[in-house]
Amino acid sequence: MANTEHGYSPAKLRELRGNLHIHSNRSDGTLSPSEIASLANRCKLDFIGINDHFAVCGPSYYEKGILILQGTELNKDHSHCLAYNCSLAPKPKQEDGAVVAEQVINSGGIGIIAHPFETGSPLVSGGRCYPWLNWETADYQGIEIWNQTSQWRDSARSYWRSLRQWLFRRYRPFAQGACPKALAIWDKVCRQRHVTGVAGSDLHAPIIKVWGIKFKLLQYPMLLAAVNTYCLAEVTGDGKRDGAEIIAALRQGRCWIAYDRLSLGRGFSYTAEAGENWAGMGGTVSRTRGKAWLRIKLPRPGEICLIHNGNPVIREKGQTRDLSVGAAGVYRVEARLKGIPWIYSNPIYIN
Ligand SMILES: [Zn+2]
Ligand SMILES: [Zn+2]
Repeated sequence: MANTEHGYSPAKLRELRGNLHIHSNRSDGTLSPSEIASLANRCKLDFIGINDHFAVCGPSYYEKGILILQGTELNKDHSHCLAYNCSLAPKPKQEDGAVVAEQVINSGGIGIIAHPFETGSPLVSGGRCYPWLNWETADYQGIEIWNQTSQWRDSARSYWRSLRQWLFRRYRPFAQGACPKALAIWDKVCRQRHVTGVAGSDLHAPIIKVWGIKFKLLQYPMLLAAVNTYCLAEVTGDGKRDGAEIIAALRQGRCWIAYDRLSLGRGFSYTAEAGENWAGMGGTVSRTRGKAWLRIKLPRPGEICLIHNGNPVIREKGQTRDLSVGAAGVYRVEARLKGIPWIYSNPIYIN
């Protein structure tokens, strides 16, 4: 069956596991892209997205068996925009995020809103934070519904609690799942147009000093293996081409997010059918005789929640679920394992 909307053949698509929004030592990260690729290889990732501040986007390439997307993060004080595949020459004095997002689109790139609702921590940089401020703009194609670094930092309210958390339960903040405010705005915007939900690690691996003791926080191996974005794309081994395929998958929403540390998100599937029409995540299906079938498959048994136009309509235990739906709208899937948020699909649109 061919997907009528995006013109790709599902049989040729490969499931690719990647980590987006990584900073290297070319901006304020601590490792080189090559060192990060080695660690990503050990974590069994397929691709990584390097988004150094104010970098110029470059062609994708393979290193250490990992496809490296050379993106950028364009930012003012607030409203940070991740971009891939754009030809912008970043200016030292950035415009507002909405202006940047428009420039990214106009230069052929894809713009993703980074850490839209981060709140900051009193322990880090005097509580400074960089949320997205201008929601009037429609010039973005993706939104980080889950930013690991923001989530961890936002949870740090006191030195003692944070130190204890870091030493004994360092993954604990991630058990909260994606950002509820980002999910709410994503659901709202997707009722007007498609926007892809992605996860970002925002890896920097900073070294901080507390009471004279040095800590290397949120290291690369930790976040590369925690929360990832999976894409369905056709890859050939040619870096430039494969990078373009992954960026196309990100643009179309052929992807899902998984808290891999809890359990790998490999093997997740969510599709829709109606008569001869078929769609995967990010696609659209028109109902036949007022109905469409949604098919959900988790990598292992868990709790499946189907969300229609932002509202949960089905919540039940299992590994697979086929169900017919009669109402038009935006349908996405969330899955939990033992009550902990695990997988977030991108939506399918039913007409
Ligand atoms: Zn940022
Ligand atoms: Zn960043």
